[in-house]
Amino acid sequence: MLSRAATASLSVSAVSANPSKPSFFFSNTSKFLGLNHNLSFSAPNRLSNFPCLSWNTKKTANKSRMASFTTRASAQPLKNADELIDSVETFIFDCDGVIWKGDKLIDGVPETLELLRSKGKRLVFVTNNSTKSRKQYGKKFETLGLNVNEEEIFASSFAAAAYLKSINFPKDKKIYVIGEDGIIKEVELAGFQYFGGPEDGEKKIELKPGFRMEHDENVGAVVVGFDRYFNYYKVQYATLCIRENPGCLFIATNRDAVTHLTDVQEWAGGGSMVGAISGSTQREPLVVGKPSTFMMDYLATKFGITKSQICMVGDRLDTDILFGQNGGCKTLLVLSGVTTLSMLQNPKNTIQPDFYTNKISDFLSLRAATV
Ligand SMILES: [Mg+2]
Repeated sequence: MLSRAATASLSVSAVSANPSKPSFFFSNTSKFLGLNHNLSFSAPNRLSNFPCLSWNTKKTANKSRMASFTTRASAQPLKNADELIDSVETFIFDCDGVIWKGDKLIDGVPETLELLRSKGKRLVFVTNNSTKSRKQYGKKFETLGLNVNEEEIFASSFAAAAYLKSINFPKDKKIYVIGEDGIIKEVELAGFQYFGGPEDGEKKIELKPGFRMEHDENVGAVVVGFDRYFNYYKVQYATLCIRENPGCLFIATNRDAVTHLTDVQEWAGGGSMVGAISGSTQREPLVVGKPSTFMMDYLATKFGITKSQICMVGDRLDTDILFGQNGGCKTLLVLSGVTTLSMLQNPKNTIQPDFYTNKISDFLSLRAATV
């Protein structure tokens, strides 16, 4: 049974001029690195765990998500792989559509990764898919025969936990999770109190006259990711937490419109779950996955990388390529996933990577061609 611990434990420094209003933490009016979010921390120095993050809400306020992107010239086909490889020290790869498709490895990936490692490049793998934890992704790489260290994998489930750590989310507060095992595992590993997730997948609401759903007033954050077991119970529970618990955060792992649960069609993505909660709360989430630059800033800090020395490789324009561009990196679109050449070259498309190519193993053939 859910506890109803008093919110009085939220005793972070009082800054509100109005004593009747809770002074702790967050409002829904600011922006996160150009993206909508609901954070307006009353103690900004608590964010300083991430020295490279520029949490300047004034600078980013009122900008739309696209506003931070400067339209570039049309993408060029990649002709000289060596030139690109030599110009950066780190490659960040999206996974689905780049490394694998569903559970099938894309041709030539092992050899390509090996080539890049042999040239001393740092490899990082970033995915918006929050259904698995870092550890679980590590197993997937291993199953596919790829030699990838857990420390090189950054899923949006990990990003959600890393973000909460970065703001010193109070350990006596709880997190309500809408999402699958990946988020649960990561927030648990980070030492936070949580509930929800798969456990609430079977719960139903019986609407009888006078019925009122109780909720835990000690929930200080709702994390929403892709959830195959999304239901009305979860919507209502999250809505109550966000609307009624003073300062409760609304964090989204991503807002992807669609995802590829099977290889034959597109399926409603994490954006559909986030959209439902956004609709009922009239709040915009803080997005920690791509194209938000949170993970890019985190990676740059962790590995001490200069962002101009990174090449972001992905198959989606509105997440991967925008993520790279928002972070000030070089960008390479691969056509092995969701984006076709005609989509890239459609006059309505405003997101142009620096380069495009069919698949990452073109690095091998394009090298050979230039030798
Ligand atoms: Mg992808």
